Amino acid sequence: MGIATDAIHAGCDPVPGHGAIMTPIHATSTYVQTVQEGEPGEVPYDYARTINPTRSALETNIAALEAGTHGRAFASGMAAIDAIARLCSAGDHVICGANVYGGTYRLFSQVLARQGLEFSFVDSSDPEALKSAVRDETKLIHVETPTNPMMQLTDIPAVAAIAKDAGALLCVDNTFMSPVFQRPLELGADIVVHSTTKFINGHSDSIGGALAVKDAELDARLGFLQKSAGAILSPFDSFLVLRGIKTLVVRMRAHDAAGRELAGWLNEHDKVDAVLYPGLPSHPQHELAKTQMSGFGAMISFVIQGDDLQAARRFLKALKICALAESLGGVETLISHPATMTHASVPAEDRAKLGLSDGLVRISVGLEDLEDLRDDLEQGLAAV
Ligand code: PLP
Repeated sequence: MGIATDAIHAGCDPVPGHGAIMTPIHATSTYVQTVQEGEPGEVPYDYARTINPTRSALETNIAALEAGTHGRAFASGMAAIDAIARLCSAGDHVICGANVYGGTYRLFSQVLARQGLEFSFVDSSDPEALKSAVRDETKLIHVETPTNPMMQLTDIPAVAAIAKDAGALLCVDNTFMSPVFQRPLELGADIVVHSTTKFINGHSDSIGGALAVKDAELDARLGFLQKSAGAILSPFDSFLVLRGIKTLVVRMRAHDAAGRELAGWLNEHDKVDAVLYPGLPSHPQHELAKTQMSGFGAMISFVIQGDDLQAARRFLKALKICALAESLGGVETLISHPATMTHASVPAEDRAKLGLSDGLVRISVGLEDLEDLRDDLEQGLAAV
């Protein structure tokens, strides 16, 4: 099936009995069982932390979109990433992209590092650097591509080969691209993870996370962690995310068209020092982008002229349509200042090493009229 067909139908069969076309919200904590004869065995439905039909529909859907065999839905993107990291045991080593989402960096460096996992944060856009960080104990490589907010790409097939040689799992956070534009499992990754909070749900009304794999044994390990720690997505949120996914393909195409247009416009603007967008020929990894992504998406980072906090503040203050907010991937345009918002938990010296300067802003281009967005950015830049 094509991805638009899967987005609408995978996991979402009409309900037997009456044929309701929409997946119901199964608000239940448990299931009535029948008395089993003989030895106790596994029952498919026992308790709703372990399994819920609304969540299962979403999990099947996500697996189909990511060309996987199994999916798992969590209470947030961070809960999904936490479950993946918990595949490791104390003493294991994890290689993580140096420029991942600040919350991922915080979970790894401030929580899981205290519990005996070892982390190396490495520039994942450089496969050689990643390869030299591999140790005998390396069990997991976790990358985002493009990265947030520096928009650096990781060569997924190259890093998948390194992970395979090392006997480690490769997990790709595909939140920025969505499966519409990038399918990491097809490129050799073992696990793909999403903050469904973003493009997957797309309407800024739910926090959630999901992962997909292509291996039943790995799924069983993740399912065990999911039910043991219990950070599951609720039936209501599962319904919302499934509902959002039905329009994922059309939304992503519109986001991508607007993203390309605005990135080109910003790139020509004299109040903008630099634009980071993989769709621009000036992006250092534009050629790689063309090989592993089928669209460039709606995430653009750019440096305001002068590259300082005051210039960024003047710009952000003047905006009227673009909303200053953390998060991304909604129908509305969101703009953020990574140094003081999403990446404030990254130490200043590490931010400087990444090039994440005070004049950098990140925009998640929404689905408003393009002329209105351009006018809003124009008057913001005029205030710089
Ligand atoms: N991964 C990326 C790339 C993100 O941008 C975020 C949140 O912004 C997360 C993971 C965490 O997701 P959540 O906020 O749903 O826990």
